Amino acid sequence: MNKKIYRLSKSCIGDLEKKNVMQVLDHEFLGMGEEVKKFEHTLQNYLGREVASAVNGTAALQLALQACGIGHGDEVLVPTLTYVASFQAISATGAIPVACDVDFKSLTLSVEDAKKRVTKNTKAVMPVHYSGGVGNLNEIYKFASNLGLRVIEDAAHAFGTIYQEKRVGSFGDVVCFSFDGIKNLTSGEGGCIATSDTRVIEKIKDIRLLGVHKDTDMRFSGKRSWEFDVFEQGWRYHMSNVMAAIGNAQMDKFSEMAARRQKIGMLYNKYLANNSKLEVMDHDYELVVPHIYVIRLKEGIEKVVIQQKLMDVGIQTGVHYQPAHTLSFYSNKISLPFPNAEKAYSEILTLPMHPDLSDQDIDFIAKSLLKIIT
Ligand SMILES: *Cc1c(COP(=O)(O)O)cnc(C)c1O
Repeated sequence: MNKKIYRLSKSCIGDLEKKNVMQVLDHEFLGMGEEVKKFEHTLQNYLGREVASAVNGTAALQLALQACGIGHGDEVLVPTLTYVASFQAISATGAIPVACDVDFKSLTLSVEDAKKRVTKNTKAVMPVHYSGGVGNLNEIYKFASNLGLRVIEDAAHAFGTIYQEKRVGSFGDVVCFSFDGIKNLTSGEGGCIATSDTRVIEKIKDIRLLGVHKDTDMRFSGKRSWEFDVFEQGWRYHMSNVMAAIGNAQMDKFSEMAARRQKIGMLYNKYLANNSKLEVMDHDYELVVPHIYVIRLKEGIEKVVIQQKLMDVGIQTGVHYQPAHTLSFYSNKISLPFPNAEKAYSEILTLPMHPDLSDQDIDFIAKSLLKIIT
């Protein structure tokens, strides 16, 4: 008999996604057209302001930075405890990602630490909404505004999260989401940028289409530009109708999927909070839509041993993330230490989280973990 595998994360796809994709295939227009226009529209309604879609979350971040005029030699403050995508998006523009330590509790950017790393070349800050929570985002905006820095939020984990009664992405300078296969909402691959800065949105709409001026409008009316001008370096970073077909189906059922993630967070907490061997993240799951469920193992617990024992009963786990300042490409010129990120890295363990996990699955996973560590 095949043993049941509890996947760390997965795409959750139903009949609606399949039907939408089949329709696009039947239409034989796979590129950027009606379906992408509809997806952007739906996202715009959801977030209450301008949205531009992109081929993935990393591209969304890179486009946002470039459209804000950030480039060669500029420095961008970014927490080290993030996926390498945040760093690659910054260095892709020619700018330098300046790794910062994280707040010990929320594992989001530490403003106190970021302040120490500001130079005359600092142009922007990229907070990362680790696991779905935004930490003290207000404080980050205050810090940025005092120094005149742009804020490009890496909200890849936080689609659906509410902060101070507002949806993440509905406020703030420039906010980027990822819709890759395992994120809170997926379009296969994909991403988007939300901002109230119309100049930034217009620029992004050009540079995602190789810089071809106003090509987005042409594509959305089923045409393309034969005569045009190009004003700057562009990239082929636009979304396709196939991707948007998946995204549109997911938007239809997003409130259920988000509620399921929140319920799973609450269930895990019920089993795992107030345990002397571990700590859980300090999220209010009425407001946070978790992308990952992270626990911290107290000192003396061998993480790899726990991971192996969980794997033995079919439970996949992960570690989000190896701090980016330890990567060869990004390790240069770092003088200040990262005590919080390094301590956290030794303790963090990610448990399975996706909407298809049942209450019984969570019961099994949590009880298996408790059995192993006690
Ligand atoms: C997923 C992710 C991204 C990038 O998104 P892609 O769509 O995979 O390119 C960026 N930052 C973080 C923290 C992510 O988890």
